[in-house]
Amino acid sequence: MRGLMQEWPLLCGKILDHAARQHGSRAIVGRSVEGPITATTYAQVRTRSLKLASRLAQDGFASGDPIATLAWNTARHLEVWYGAMGIGALYHTLNPRLFPDQLAWIMGDAEDKALFVDLSFVALAEKLVPQVPSIRRVVILTDREHMPETTLPAAVAYEDYLAEGEDGFQWAELDENHAAGMCYTSGTTGNPKGVVYSHRSNVLHAMIAAMPDAMGISSRDVVLPVVPMFHANAWGLAQSAPMVGAKLVMPGAKLDGGSLYELMEREQVTFSAAVPTIWLMLLHHLEETGRKLPHLRKVVIGGAACPRAVTEKFEKTYGVEVIHAWGMTEMSPLGSLCTMKPETDGLDDDALYALKSKQGHAPFGVEMKVTDDDDRELPWDGKSFGRLKVRGPAVSSAYFGGAGAEQFEADGWFDTGDVAHIDPHGIMQITDRAKDVIKSGGEWISTIELENLAVGHPDVAEAAVIGIHHPHWDERPLLIVVPKPGCAPTKEAVLGTLENKVARWWMPDDVVFVKEIPHTATGKISKRALREQFRDYTLP
Ligand code: ADP
Repeated sequence: MRGLMQEWPLLCGKILDHAARQHGSRAIVGRSVEGPITATTYAQVRTRSLKLASRLAQDGFASGDPIATLAWNTARHLEVWYGAMGIGALYHTLNPRLFPDQLAWIMGDAEDKALFVDLSFVALAEKLVPQVPSIRRVVILTDREHMPETTLPAAVAYEDYLAEGEDGFQWAELDENHAAGMCYTSGTTGNPKGVVYSHRSNVLHAMIAAMPDAMGISSRDVVLPVVPMFHANAWGLAQSAPMVGAKLVMPGAKLDGGSLYELMEREQVTFSAAVPTIWLMLLHHLEETGRKLPHLRKVVIGGAACPRAVTEKFEKTYGVEVIHAWGMTEMSPLGSLCTMKPETDGLDDDALYALKSKQGHAPFGVEMKVTDDDDRELPWDGKSFGRLKVRGPAVSSAYFGGAGAEQFEADGWFDTGDVAHIDPHGIMQITDRAKDVIKSGGEWISTIELENLAVGHPDVAEAAVIGIHHPHWDERPLLIVVPKPGCAPTKEAVLGTLENKVARWWMPDDVVFVKEIPHTATGKISKRALREQFRDYTLP
C-alpha cells in the first residue's frame, strides 16, 4: 500500500520560495566586487533569479545545460545558481585558483554553454573562452558603468542582461532527481572529476546541514560563508541559509583577516565557515590588533584537519564555539561534524580538546564504515583504522562521464580515499589521505596528527609532514615548518611539542624551516608539491 501523502518534489527553487515568503525582508549583505558593501533581500534575490531564468530561456538555454560561473560569494552569484536551476540547467562552479589549462579542460569536459564571470576573473576568462567552443554567451557580473574593456566575444553586463528578462516567470517543473549543479574535484592525481548534484540531494543536504547537531543555524543567525561557492557548494550554506531564513553576509573577493573582521563586526555575524588557513589569518589579525569577536557564536572549520591550537584559541580566548567538520565535494560536501553528544559530557580540558580535534559523527543521511585492505569492516573501537567509505542521499553515485568508477562499489558504498577510525560513540577521526599516510616499517604514521601537534608550538605558523624515502624503514617523516613572523624556534623546541604525545617511532627524523608551504587551489597544504620540492632530500 502506498502512503497517502502529497507529491512535493524536492526542488531548489522551493528553498527560495520559502525564504521569500517567510523571510522575505531578511538581508543578504555583501562586499561587491566593484568595492562597496551592498545589500539585497531574499525576496529580491528570488525575483531576480526568476527573471534571470527567463532570460536564459530566451537565449535558448535548456534543461541539462551547464552554466559556468567564475565568481566569488556574492548575491549575484546566488542568483545565477538559482536562475540556472530554475530552467533545469546546472550551475557549474569553476575554481579560479586552478591553472587555466585545467579550467579549460574542465569546461570542455562539461561542455559548458555559458559563462558568468566576476570582474576579477575577466582576464582569466579571456584565456579560457577561446578554448571552449561550446560557450555561446559570456555575462560579466557587473553593471554597464563598471564594464571593462574586454576581448570576450559579445560579453554583456549582468544587469543589462537581467533587465531583458520577463517578470512572472515560474520555476520549471522537474523531477527531483534532475541535475542541479556541477563541481569538479581538484584532482590531485589525474584529471579532475565532475560531481553532479541533483535538486533532491541539494535540498536534503541543506536540511542535514542546518540540523542542530550539524551546523545548527536558524533565522536568528547571521551567516558568513567564507568557504567559496566554487569550493564544494559553500558547504551547502547557499541553500541552508535561505532554507532557515538566516541573514547572509557574502565576503566577495576579500578574504584577508582584516576584511573578514570588518564584515563580522559591521553585520554582527554569528556563524561562519571556512578552511583552517582562513581562520589562521583571522586569528593573526586579532592577535595583532587586540580586537575581539563579541557577536560570533560558532565557526565550522573543515576541508583540512583543524589544528587543536586553533580550536582552543577560538574557544578560550574569544568564546567562539568550534565545530570541526569533514566532507568532500562528492558528499555535497558534509560528511561529519564534531558537535558534542551527551555521551561525552564531563571530559577534562585535555580530553575535550582531543575530542574536538576529531572530525566528528555522521548526521542522519550519511552512513559510514571503515574497512581493511580485504574490504572487511573494522570495529568501531577508536583504534582500528582503514579506508573510510560512505553512503547516503547526498553522496555521489558516479562521476560525470563515468570517470573514477573504481571508487564506487557495487553495494553502493563510495570509497573516500581517506583513512580513518571510528570510536564506540560513532566519532570518526581522519588519520590521513590514503596517498599521504607514511608507511614506516610496515606500520602507518598519521601525518595529520604530527602536524596538529607541531602547530601547537607558539612560534609555528604552519606545519606539514611528508614521508621521505628511507633505505631500511621504507619511509620516515620529515616535518616542514613555517615560523611565525619574527620567530625562530629551534628543531628541538618544535619536536618537544610532540614528545610523549605520539609513539617514539612516529617522531619526525628531521625538521626543516621554510618561508612558505605550497597550497592547493582549495587552500589546503599541497603534499604533492612538497614531495616534489623535497624529492632529493636525504634524512640525517
Ligand atoms: P579537493 O581535495 O580536491 O579540494 P575536497 O575539498 O572535496 O576536494 O576535499 C576533500 C578531502 O579533504 C577529504 O577527502 C579529506 O581528505 C580532506 N578533508 C576535508 N575535511 C577534512 C578534515 N576536517 N580533516 C582532515 N581532512 C579533511
